[in-house]
Amino acid sequence: MLCTACPFECEVDRSIERGKCRASDRIEVSIARLHHWEEPPISGSQGSGTVFFSHCNLRCRFCQNYEISQLGRGREVTDEQLLGMMYRLQDQGAHNINLVSPTQYTDQLVPILERAELHVPVVWNSNGYEKVDRVRRLEGLVQVFLPDLKYHSDELARRCSGAPAYFSHASAAVAEMKRQTGTNRYRDDGTILAGVIVRHLVLPGQVEDSIRVLDWIAKELGNDTSVSLMAQYYPCHRARELDGMNRRLTAAEYERVRKSFLKLGFEEGHTQDLSSAKKDYTPDFEQPAS
Ligand code: SF4
Repeated sequence: MLCTACPFECEVDRSIERGKCRASDRIEVSIARLHHWEEPPISGSQGSGTVFFSHCNLRCRFCQNYEISQLGRGREVTDEQLLGMMYRLQDQGAHNINLVSPTQYTDQLVPILERAELHVPVVWNSNGYEKVDRVRRLEGLVQVFLPDLKYHSDELARRCSGAPAYFSHASAAVAEMKRQTGTNRYRDDGTILAGVIVRHLVLPGQVEDSIRVLDWIAKELGNDTSVSLMAQYYPCHRARELDGMNRRLTAAEYERVRKSFLKLGFEEGHTQDLSSAKKDYTPDFEQPAS
């Protein structure tokens, strides 16, 4: 089958060749473990049951997870092994099963999720560069969407992530996620049961683009949409190749975006302290898949 799983529509047979994402047709996992550094409704007190998939359909030059996403660190797993990882995390008390960077495996994951017997929500933790028809296939299988909405400017998206027409694809995908889940629902302890949390990482020198992203969310999805405004950018991987982005975000830049977020009247959101912008914040990639 020729792969058209994401907007790149590479039309390659992944059993014999690789497309933009470099993933084969077999699922590869880098890490599966409880994670305590997601947004509070995701990590809660007991942790989120994260499964980090190898490879990614974007090529972000500043990617903090590039060892997994671009160098492909991980190992192949069978469907049974993947289900076993999810059940183990659920047994360990995870508030949810959090599928991190799953887009390139959407077609493989749908039948697995149809078989999964989970009593905690499934979180689809993606970069947003997805096709609406694939997001529709997740209806009823995924309860919580945690997409990025990285850029408003297509030029910025092309320069930073090599992704043509990022905003039109990602905004349509996020709108479909919101349509499926409606208003967010939470347990009494504040962990999320169903809904959407849109992540946006503020980039150095790109305050206006961030404000345009927030404007779009408020106008098109409504200011009842939960937004995670992230400040954890630091220049890693190939960020040096990006003009003006070989530095951290300044407090003034983040504050301008945060003020705009407040002015737009968002009812629910998560912000980060600038001290989160350090390598320690990223997962420890030395952990084996388990
Ligand atoms: S999932 Fe990978 S191979 Fe398939 S269309 Fe997207 S980038 Fe290409």
